[in-house]
Amino acid sequence: MENWLTERSQPKFRAGQITKWLYTGRAESFDDMSDLPKALRKELAASFDIWQATIADHQRAEDGTEKLLVDLVDSGRVECVLLREEGRRSICVSSQVGCAMGCVFCASGLDGVERNLTRGEILEQMLRLQRLLPEEERLSHIVMMGMGEPLANLNSVLSALEVARSPAGLGISPRRITISTVGLPAAIDRLAQYSTPFHLAISLHAPNDSLRNRLVPVNDKIGIRPILDAADRYFASTGRRLTFEYVLLAGLNDSLDCAQQLVDLLRGRVSMLNVIPYNPVAGLPYQTPESAAIHEFRDALIAGGINVMFRQRKGDGIDAACGQLRRKRGLST
Ligand code: SAH
Repeated sequence: MENWLTERSQPKFRAGQITKWLYTGRAESFDDMSDLPKALRKELAASFDIWQATIADHQRAEDGTEKLLVDLVDSGRVECVLLREEGRRSICVSSQVGCAMGCVFCASGLDGVERNLTRGEILEQMLRLQRLLPEEERLSHIVMMGMGEPLANLNSVLSALEVARSPAGLGISPRRITISTVGLPAAIDRLAQYSTPFHLAISLHAPNDSLRNRLVPVNDKIGIRPILDAADRYFASTGRRLTFEYVLLAGLNDSLDCAQQLVDLLRGRVSMLNVIPYNPVAGLPYQTPESAAIHEFRDALIAGGINVMFRQRKGDGIDAACGQLRRKRGLST
C-alpha cells in the first residue's frame, strides 16, 4: 500500500489511515474514508476491491448467533459464525473449502476438500462478521473452528491471524485466538516455534486409537500418542494451557469406560477438556446423548480430577455446526 501511495506522490502515512478504516473504522467502501482526499478515494476504488466474496445467506438465531454463508470469488463457499455470550463476541472462521480429514460425524468433510482459503478470504470472514456488531461492540475472540483443517493451511491461517492480533489490525490478544486441529503433530511443532503463541485446541473425540480411527479416520496414520506428545511440546514451549475437544456421540464415545480412559489419558496435563454435545447433521446417523448420560459422563471426569467444561450448544435452528448450511444450500452457486 505504501509503495502504491508513493508511486502516486501520496504520503506513506495514508496507508495507516486506510488500514485503520478497514479494521477499526469498519469502512464498507473507500468512499467512507472521510479523512482521505476525494481524488485518492476514487483512485483507490478504481484499483482495489475491499470485498471479494458475496454473502449468499445470512441467518440469525434467537440466542443472538448469526451465520453467514459466503460465496468466494473463484470457487466454493464457506460458512462463518458470530456468537454472543455475555461479554464475549466470538467469531468462528473457516480455513478451507470443505475438509480432507473425514471425521465421520462432521458435515464439512462429507465431500472432501476443494481448496485452501487465501489469507484475504480468511480475513474477509472476520471483517464481515465484525460489521454485524453495533459500533460500541468489539470482537473479543476468534476460533478457527469453521470448515476445514487450519493446520493443513497453516501459512494463510497464520498470516490472517497476524492481522487479527496486530494492534494496527483487529487488535485481538493471541490468548483469545484459538486454532483448533484434528491433531497433525508436525504442524503443531511448527506452530510451537512460531513467534506468536496462539491458543491451541485439539479435537480428540476418543480416548483410544481403535475408537478414534473410526470417528476420525486420519488418526489411523497418526495415533493419539504422537498427538499428545506434540501437544506437550507445544505447552512446554509456549506455556499456553491446552484445550482438548470431545464431541459426545450417543452410544459411541459417551460411556463411563470412555470417561475413565480419558481421565487416564489426560491426567497430569495442564489442560481443559471441552465436551461438546453433538449438533446433529441431516443424513448422518449420529445423535446427541440424553442429558442424564451427559451428566454421568461429566461427573466421572470431574471425579477423575479432569478440568472440564461442558459447552452450551449455540445457534440451534440455524444449522450452526460446521458445514451444515453449506450442505443444505448446495456446495456452490
Ligand atoms: N479441523 C479442525 C476444526 C474443525 S471444527 C478440528 O478438527 O479441530 C471445530 C470442532 O467442531 C472440531 O472439534 C469438530 O470435530 C467439531 N464438530 C464438527 N462437527 C460437529 C457437530 N456436528 N457437532 C459438534 N461438533 C462438531
